[in-house]
Amino acid sequence: MKRIFRTLFGENPEKEAQRKKRGETAPLMGPAVAQVEVTTRCNFKCTMCPRTYYSGEKNRDFSWDLFEKLSAFFPKLELVHLQGWGEPLLHPRIFDMAALVRQKNARVAFTTNGSLLHETAIAEILRLPMQHVTVSMAGADASVHDAIRVGSSFDALLGNVANLVEAKKRANLKEPVVHLSYMLTRNSIVDLSKMVRKAHEIGVDRLVTPNLDCPVTKKEDDSTIFGFDVPDRDFQHAIDEAQILANQLKFRLNVYPLKLSDEILCCELNPVKQFFVNVHGDVAPCAYASVMGRSDYCRYFSGEEVPTSPLLFGSLATEDIDEIWGKKEYRRFRLDYQNRMQAYNNLSVNRTSIHSMFALQDYLREIDCVLADHPVPRFCRKCYKAYGA
Ligand code: SF4
Repeated sequence: MKRIFRTLFGENPEKEAQRKKRGETAPLMGPAVAQVEVTTRCNFKCTMCPRTYYSGEKNRDFSWDLFEKLSAFFPKLELVHLQGWGEPLLHPRIFDMAALVRQKNARVAFTTNGSLLHETAIAEILRLPMQHVTVSMAGADASVHDAIRVGSSFDALLGNVANLVEAKKRANLKEPVVHLSYMLTRNSIVDLSKMVRKAHEIGVDRLVTPNLDCPVTKKEDDSTIFGFDVPDRDFQHAIDEAQILANQLKFRLNVYPLKLSDEILCCELNPVKQFFVNVHGDVAPCAYASVMGRSDYCRYFSGEEVPTSPLLFGSLATEDIDEIWGKKEYRRFRLDYQNRMQAYNNLSVNRTSIHSMFALQDYLREIDCVLADHPVPRFCRKCYKAYGA
C-alpha cells in the first residue's frame, strides 16, 4: 500500500508534515520510465498521425552516442520505451539499443506498425528478450485499416503478429507480452467485437484501444468517439458488447471511458514519473510536447484549433538527465500534478466515513473545489489525455 501511495502521490502526508515542520524542502522524486524517440522516419503515412502533416523537418535517427550517454541513467529506471513519432524498427541499431537497456537492468518495450516484424526482427526480440511489444492497428479489416494506415497491409500485419506469437510459444517464453493496439474512431468502433475475436484467435495477450487523442486536423477531431457530453449510446453499446465477448473468451480488453472528465488527477502518461526524449536528445514531459523532433503544430481540442509549441526542458547534448529533471521550471511543471494529487489525497484520507447522501454530495463538491484550485499545468489544459482520453 505504501509503495502504491508513493508511486501515485509521492510523499506520505504525515512525513510531509514532519518535514515541513523541520523546514526541509521535499525530496526530488526521480523518474521511473523513459520514452525515447529512436527515429522520426516512418514507412507509412497514416491519416491521423501528426508526422503526416508536420514532416517538413528532416527525418533522422537518434544518435548512438547520445543513446549511450542516456544509458548511464537506465539503472535508475524501471522501463525504457523505444517509441516516438516514427517507426522504431527503421532504426539500424534498434536491437543494440534494446540490448543496452537490458544490460542496464531496465525493462524494454517498443510500439511498432508491425510491417517490419519479419523473421530476423522476431528472432532478435525473443533473443533479448524484450519485455513488451505493442503493434498498432486502425481497423478490424483491410478496408478500414489500410485506408487509415496508408502504406500498411492489414493481412500482412496480422500474419506478422501471428508469427511473433507463434515463435514466442515455440520458444516457451513468457516475454515479450504482446499487445494489439486498436485505435478507436467512429469508423472502427463498430468492429470492436470483430477485433476482439481476431486478437483472441491470433493469441496476443491483450487488446488495448487507444483513442485518437491528439487530432491535428478538424476531420480527425470529428472522428473521435469521446467527449464531455453524455456518451453516444451506439458507441457505448459496441463497447459493452465487446467487453461481454472478451469476458466470455477470458481475453483481456482495455477500453477508455467515452466521457471525458476534469476530475482526472494525472494524465495516463504520468509526467511525474516519466519523461520523453526526442530524436535530437531534447527532454519533454511527453511525446505531445515535442512533435516530429520539435515542431510547432496545431492540435484540436473540442473543435478548437490549438497552436502548440514544444515544451522542452533541456538537451542531453549538453546536460545529463539528472540536471534536466532537477531544473526549476521542470519541477514546477510536475509540481502542478503533484500538488493536485496530494490535495486530493489529503481530502480523502481525512474523510473516514460518509453516512448520508448529503454528506456524499458535500464530499463530491469538495473534490470539485480542490481539483479546481489545483489545475493541471497550462500546457496540458487543451490535451484530451488530461481528461482521461
Ligand atoms: S496531459 Fe497531454 S500534454 Fe500533458 S503530459 Fe499528459 S499527454 Fe502530455
